[in-house]
Amino acid sequence: MRKLQPVRGTHDLAADEMRRHRHVTEHARTLAARYGFAEVATPIFEFSDVFRRTLGDTSDIVTKEMYTFTDRSGAEITLRPENTAGVARAVIGGSLGQGRPVKCFYAGPMFRYERPQKGRLRQFHQIGVELIGASEPLADIEVIACGAHLLETLGVLEKVTLEINTLADEESRRSYRDALVAYLRAREDALSDESRERLRRNPLRVLDSKDEGDRAVLADAPVIDEHLSAEAAAFFDAVCEGLAGLGIAFARNPRLVRGLDYYCHTAFEFTTEALGAQGAVLAGGRYDGLVETMGGPPTPGVGWAGGIERLAALVGEVGAPSRPIAIVPLGARAEAVALGLAQRLRHEGFAVELTYRGSLSKRMKRANQAGAAAAVILGDDEMARGTATIRDLDSGEQVEAPEAELATRLARYAPAP
Ligand code: ATP
Ligand code: MG
Repeated sequence: MRKLQPVRGTHDLAADEMRRHRHVTEHARTLAARYGFAEVATPIFEFSDVFRRTLGDTSDIVTKEMYTFTDRSGAEITLRPENTAGVARAVIGGSLGQGRPVKCFYAGPMFRYERPQKGRLRQFHQIGVELIGASEPLADIEVIACGAHLLETLGVLEKVTLEINTLADEESRRSYRDALVAYLRAREDALSDESRERLRRNPLRVLDSKDEGDRAVLADAPVIDEHLSAEAAAFFDAVCEGLAGLGIAFARNPRLVRGLDYYCHTAFEFTTEALGAQGAVLAGGRYDGLVETMGGPPTPGVGWAGGIERLAALVGEVGAPSRPIAIVPLGARAEAVALGLAQRLRHEGFAVELTYRGSLSKRMKRANQAGAAAAVILGDDEMARGTATIRDLDSGEQVEAPEAELATRLARYAPAP
């Protein structure tokens, strides 16, 4: 029979990688709570319309990347490619409460049919925050500050740069889009096929192109600054001043865009050079039009999402898990005692690995394999005396202790609280 393989672009998490993954998630969860973002979990699949309507028919995600299927009832379902749409759907439905702003944090898997490569998976994981119902620049500042704080907590802030841009308001954007389209049309021959297609469907996205020819054309392309309304300019200034006041370093990138129409004002991205081509680790922006696009009342919002795999790759070694105590019984009577002892020690807070089979040496091998710091050996002699032998697996030293004293004698092997 052919060996069963994981689906292309998916990946099993284990050992050190799983620990780093969890490290990122747990720090994000803790920190988000400190900023008032309460954890939510929306379903991993939604009706396809949730994403079609919000991400728009021209976005890369909708046109190329969605995992969509028809379920047994004939409903069109999509595995979520991102979580903002699900949260907005929940906000409109009322399941996240009536208070405004809604501030939530999420962590979980996302699915995109992409070309798998380093840092780009088909099932990947994101952490993210959404702040829905606040239109003030203060909200943008706090959302970005939370992202920066997380990167700092993870010890990776030095490895990233924060790029920021404004997509302004609708009117400013329209005026800019016209100028950009005029500029690009005049140079269409020099553009890649993909950019020519984007020029027709979603011209701002051309700015995003990584193609070298496109980059050359874009070098002299108009920037949004000359098209900003006074309000949009003031909003952007307020965000930049707020970040500067908090000592958060950033660089203006006038080519940074989010491809969707409902994005406005602030767009930002933390990127790194340390991961090769897939350098974006955490990105977000303001999406004032989103809730309305989905049929809700006009409701502003701002948020970000971070890629856990990419963040975990940036994070260095994280602490190894605490080492267990191995219980090594020899003989049937000892095994029965060992089972109870293991359970008792676990109730007292120890991590315990019970060895199941084999000779003393086999079991000791297993104890070492499990990374045990000490072994509690229960042999015939010990059973007869109502004691156990504690062997330190690093030093090899051993002592015999009465059963009643075991917990005290083992105290130095207890996991840190
Ligand atoms: P990219 O430009 O790398 O395609 P994106 O703009 O599609 O990123 P977002 O939708 O903003 O990404 O998602 C936020 C974050 O999620 C990204 O910055 C990245 O860290 C992570 N991410 C996105 N797609 C993937 C993927 N296919 N595999 C792993 N991580 C991903
Ligand atoms: Mg993408």
